[in-house]
Amino acid sequence: VMASMAHLQKEKLQLQEELLGLQEKLAAQENDELSLSLQLQGQVETLKAKVLEQAQEIGRLRSELGGTDAEKHRDLLAAENERLRQEMKACEGELQELRRQQQQQAPCRDCHHLQENTRLQEQLSQLQREAEETRAKLVELDLEVQQKTNRLAEVELRLKDSLAERAEEEERLSRRLRDSQETIASLKSQPQQIKYIIKTVEVESAKAKQALCETQSRNQYLQEQVAMQRQVLKEMEQQLQSSQKMEAQLRAQIVMYEAELERAHGQMLEEMQAMEEEKNRAIEEAFSRAQVEMKAVHENLAGVRTNLLTLQPALRTLTHDYNSLKRQVRDFPLLLQETLRSARAEISQAIEEVHSTNRELLRKYRRELQLRKKCHNELVRLKGNIRVFGRVRPITKEDGEGLEAANAVTFDTDDDAVLHLLHKGKQVSFELDKVFPPQASQEEVFQEVQALVTSCIDGYNVCIFAYGQTGAGKTYTMEGTAANPGINQRALQLLFSEVRGKAADWDYAITVSAAEIYNESLRDLLGKEPQEKLEIKLCPDGSGQLYVPGLTEFRVQSVEDINKVFEFGHVKRVTECTNLNEHSSRSHALLIITVRGLDRSTGLRTTGKLNLVDLAGSERVGRSGAEGSRLREAQHINKSLSALGDVIYALRSRQGHVPFRNSKLTYLLQDSLSGDSKTLMMVQVSPAEKNTSETLCSLKFAERVRSVELGPVSRKAELASWPSQEQLEGDSLGSAATPGRGHASHSPGQLSSRSASIRRKLHTSG
Ligand code: ADP
Ligand code: MG
Repeated sequence: VMASMAHLQKEKLQLQEELLGLQEKLAAQENDELSLSLQLQGQVETLKAKVLEQAQEIGRLRSELGGTDAEKHRDLLAAENERLRQEMKACEGELQELRRQQQQQAPCRDCHHLQENTRLQEQLSQLQREAEETRAKLVELDLEVQQKTNRLAEVELRLKDSLAERAEEEERLSRRLRDSQETIASLKSQPQQIKYIIKTVEVESAKAKQALCETQSRNQYLQEQVAMQRQVLKEMEQQLQSSQKMEAQLRAQIVMYEAELERAHGQMLEEMQAMEEEKNRAIEEAFSRAQVEMKAVHENLAGVRTNLLTLQPALRTLTHDYNSLKRQVRDFPLLLQETLRSARAEISQAIEEVHSTNRELLRKYRRELQLRKKCHNELVRLKGNIRVFGRVRPITKEDGEGLEAANAVTFDTDDDAVLHLLHKGKQVSFELDKVFPPQASQEEVFQEVQALVTSCIDGYNVCIFAYGQTGAGKTYTMEGTAANPGINQRALQLLFSEVRGKAADWDYAITVSAAEIYNESLRDLLGKEPQEKLEIKLCPDGSGQLYVPGLTEFRVQSVEDINKVFEFGHVKRVTECTNLNEHSSRSHALLIITVRGLDRSTGLRTTGKLNLVDLAGSERVGRSGAEGSRLREAQHINKSLSALGDVIYALRSRQGHVPFRNSKLTYLLQDSLSGDSKTLMMVQVSPAEKNTSETLCSLKFAERVRSVELGPVSRKAELASWPSQEQLEGDSLGSAATPGRGHASHSPGQLSSRSASIRRKLHTSG
């Protein structure tokens, strides 16, 4: 139904469109009519022009009218008639005269008159004949005249009639002309030309009356033309009528279309009705089908009902089951809660237990930690808080060749603490804490140092010095090469790995500073202004600690960071050439590593300092051949090295006063040398024959440092001063133990160091 409705709607729309088209056509036709009327106006114009032409023609014809043949003929005949009448009158007069003459002259003139009479009679008869002829002719002419006059009268009558007619016509025409003028005016086309002509004619008529006549006749003609125009107008009207008829036709068509539309609408309604009917029918059908189905369903229902009856017992058991389950479900949360509660209690108990054991373990761990630290410290202490190692570098190319480069150092195969030096044909033995032969690797050296570095993490201050003449391998031991790094890098690496291992409980921060002491002035190697001299000051907090204001500290976290720091420091290191070693260092280089730790579990804070010192060359001034500033440098170096020896001596001998302030180096390292601090002196020597005197000096220094006894010493010893460099030199020149110079002057290598020290102890205390 909807589809058909839509279809019908569409049709209706189409029809409406058609209607619109027709209306448009109608409008177009009306337009056509308008254009036609315009055309007709144009035709009227042309016709008026023609009227004018014809008026001219009329004028021409009128001028010719005067000379028509009939009128001429008539006039001619009238004139002849007149002449003949006069001739006849003259002839009658003659005749009467003649008769009177005859009566009078008859007896007298018989003979003669007779003749004459006869002649005259003859003449008369002739004349009479002639008259007769003339009379006939006259009659004829009279007839003719009569005819002519009749005709004339006729013509005149006709003329009169025609004139009357013309007047009438004229009047009519003038009326029509007015009308037509009016219509023309209404058609917005002024026949100005005509007006103009009329005017001119009027003007001319003022000039001549006949012109008026002419104008009138022209007017007549014009009226005729107007009549013609009327006819044209009539035709036009006819056309208009036809167009109106057409319009009517179109209207009829429209009406027809409308009727059709209505019909279509009717049809649509009919179709709708039909569809409605169909729908109703379908509904009825569906209804009937549904009824049938319903019946079937009812039947099914009956079957189902019977089934249901059988199912009811089963349902009963099911509901029973369901109820029991429901009960269980209802009880379940309670059960669950109970179970949860118990489980929770168990868990919390277990956690508690774990906690307590943990606490216990932590407590034990801390105690163990303290114990370990104590034991380690004890171990280091047992090894000696101040230890002295010797390291002999291998023979290098720089040592030259031949006798000069011969090896003067030998080792004891059983005791790694003993070293023999062949000096001027005499073998001198030295015992240190440990001696590293030339083949000892950096790794081996570091193995021995490791314990010191580790105690730095525990919060102890550590100093490692490299002592020896220039070229003996101090820098090699401390810094090493890129491929084979020395103590500096290895210590830091060890610190990193140790810190990483303790990261679970401890937070560590490792910072690095680099400084150098040149001519007794301290300079920051990592600072922005390395030329600036730094001062060592006492901490204002009253702890007695020293610090260097303005010393740059870099926090390092990886090996890359260290390398960067070293590279940075190296650039600023002051190195000068001497004739002993091209790259001889004339200053003390310090690398200060600070390890600050925080135990997260106890909140314990520790601070350990690791001072790695590459000392300036220990060679004597005389041999370096330096002068001026070089000499001053050497003197400064000697002074500071002597001061270091003094301090170490004072420390080892536990004197009340330690002369830290005698040099910048010892003053700076004061807190790292005193108290629980640990010190390692790495004495570097060259094995070459030509260096034996310097080697002897260095070894003597080493042994003396080492042999300083721990524990309380006598007042004497306390007062005894550390031998100066010159004295060391003097010793090396073969002088035997100087009496009164204290315990340090025993001949090295003659006694076992331990037994010697015990004996000394007994001696001094005794
Ligand atoms: P210093 O710093 O005492 O003046 P260097 O460390 O510069 O001496 O050593 C001088 C030279 O000897 C360097 O070329 C260095 O490589 C070399 N050298 C020193 N010790 C060793 C060693 N144990 N093994 C190999 N070469 C060494
Ligand atoms: Mg060096």
